[in-house]
Amino acid sequence: KQATYAELRDVEPFTRDGTRITVMMNAGLRDDMSALAMSGADGVGLFRTEFQFLVSSTLPQRDRQLRLYRDVLDAAGDKPVVFRTVDIGGDKAVPYLDSAVGERDENPAMGWRALRLSLEREGLLKAQARALLEAAGGRSLSVMFPMVSEPWEFDAGKQVFEDQLRFLRERRKLVPETIEYGCMLEVPALADALDILAPKLSFISVGTNDLTQFLFAADRANPKLAERYDWLSPAILRFLARVAQSLVGQNVRLGVCGEMGGRRLEALALLGIGYRRLSITPAAVGPIKELVRKVDLNELTQQMTRWLATPPGDMRAELQRWAAQHDI
Ligand code: PEP
Ligand code: MG
Repeated sequence: KQATYAELRDVEPFTRDGTRITVMMNAGLRDDMSALAMSGADGVGLFRTEFQFLVSSTLPQRDRQLRLYRDVLDAAGDKPVVFRTVDIGGDKAVPYLDSAVGERDENPAMGWRALRLSLEREGLLKAQARALLEAAGGRSLSVMFPMVSEPWEFDAGKQVFEDQLRFLRERRKLVPETIEYGCMLEVPALADALDILAPKLSFISVGTNDLTQFLFAADRANPKLAERYDWLSPAILRFLARVAQSLVGQNVRLGVCGEMGGRRLEALALLGIGYRRLSITPAAVGPIKELVRKVDLNELTQQMTRWLATPPGDMRAELQRWAAQHDI
């Protein structure tokens, strides 16, 4: 009889050959946090702070942000939470910023959004940095920047936090015991600058939702294109495998936080090309933990290596067959 996901809550996701896979969950609201205990996820690998901005009719002030972040950290207890700085602008438009922008983006997904916007509207990022640093006073803070296209953008984002940290220290405020910085890899260009980027940060999380749309030049919001490109296509998997390869031996934690990681066959493929950390939708945590426990990672890795060298006509069908053969 298959274990139910509730029973799996406290079971750690080790592969059959003994590798511990980190299975975290994505969140964006206070209410999402109850899923952390329920799912048994290892933490929140992606907290989308823009949700608070998207549901507000006015720009959320620093104290409102601070309250949210503090509640989230309280709810997480000992488990880590990765806060992603706001990814607004572009298609995630907010009216109170639009008026300030004046013009609309022709191509919002690759427009003035996320860190690009945050670095120019510096007051916005400063307020968020202060709120996060204060909320995490006396504990650990993990900060992740979205839509980094070049390493200097990461530097600039981090600098805003470090300036606020100095400000708080000078005023003898309680600051975080540890701060870790990381960034999303969702703009393909960043993959060719990983040697420059890696020494600067603690973790990289691949955002396969945006990455896929940029690799295929296919709008992720267009339903006509939604079914057209497959996450299991050789182009995506080879790209992701190269990213994983190029970070081997670097002191950087690599994970995936796009929707891809929460799907059975896609998760298998990611494990087989070197990914050991997934942050996924809470409902997928149980099923993916169960899957991990059935995998022989060594065998899967060998199989994926063969498939990436000579891709089968239908990778999805092959993976499905392989999974069935291995009782997965
Ligand atoms: C992604 O792009 O894969 C991602 C996780 O971020 P979002 O879906 O919020 O753009
Ligand atoms: Mg994204």
